[in-house]
Amino acid sequence: MKIAILSRNKKLYSTRRLVEAAESRGHEVIVLDHLRCYMNITSMRPSIRYKGEKQEGFDAVIPRIGASVTFYGTAVLRQFEMMGVYPLNESVAISRSRDKLRSVQLLARKGIGLPVTGFARSPDDIDDLLTSVGGNKFVIKLLEGTQGIGVVLAENHKAAESVIEAFLGLKANILVQEFIEEAGGADIRCLVVDGKVVAAMKRQGKEGEFRSNLHRGGSANIVKITPEERSTAVRAARIMGLNVAGVDLLRSNHGPVVMEVNSSPGLEGIETATGKDVAGMIIQCIEKHAPAGKTRTVGKG
Ligand code: ADP
Ligand code: MG
Repeated sequence: MKIAILSRNKKLYSTRRLVEAAESRGHEVIVLDHLRCYMNITSMRPSIRYKGEKQEGFDAVIPRIGASVTFYGTAVLRQFEMMGVYPLNESVAISRSRDKLRSVQLLARKGIGLPVTGFARSPDDIDDLLTSVGGNKFVIKLLEGTQGIGVVLAENHKAAESVIEAFLGLKANILVQEFIEEAGGADIRCLVVDGKVVAAMKRQGKEGEFRSNLHRGGSANIVKITPEERSTAVRAARIMGLNVAGVDLLRSNHGPVVMEVNSSPGLEGIETATGKDVAGMIIQCIEKHAPAGKTRTVGKG
């Protein structure tokens, strides 16, 4: 097969591993920087050009689109889809997963366990919103934050109110969640590929930090997950319409709750912590589904 990887940088661990895994299985791989792809949107003959050359003949495309370039990246991916190229994750599913509010609404609709979550726009409604979310401590999140930046812990109702007022004053969209204190600054990252959890790790925030993100200094270790955690992760990926997803769970007193579903999960942390060949499993997923041209997802449209 001829596979395109949309990635800003060939040297990134995840990109390198996907190239290696695809080539070792006999595929031709080309890494395209999605910000250098440009498009001719003509009826019936959509095309993509890259640094002066027309790009053709791809069987599959692996999107590795960073959060800061979701808009342009998903437009490029959509163009590949219009050309009939099989996307590992579809553009609509990626857009969905990038919006934390939209994601929790979709997951809630299907009964997935979530931290109690609130959303409001007017400062006048914050007091009542916090009361309805309940508890003393609150986590406040920027809707499009990533890598733990834009996630704040407020230790009480008053502190939460002032943080939220400040965010709203800056015209930022935020959501408020109950603080799952019993998670102890740790979360579980489940790597779902093609409807299965193929690897899982526990990430622990550094001392005194409630955020477990590796970018914030957290550490990762292999973990054994429960059947309930496994099925929650698999269902969450399916609901979002993602063939490959990093589903982040918190261990709460009332069972696993989903915090976030990531559509371009990094491979370095999880492969290192678990010793699993996740890149190889991703390529196998493409081999299985690309020839039929059908994704298992519910995207499209
Ligand atoms: P980001 O997209 O920036 O990674 P997350 O929603 O994943 O944002 O939050 C970052 C980290 O903060 C999580 O990995 C988790 O450790 C912690 N966290 C987030 N929400 C909660 C919550 N409701 N209760 C407890 N810890 C939380
Ligand atoms: Mg996260």
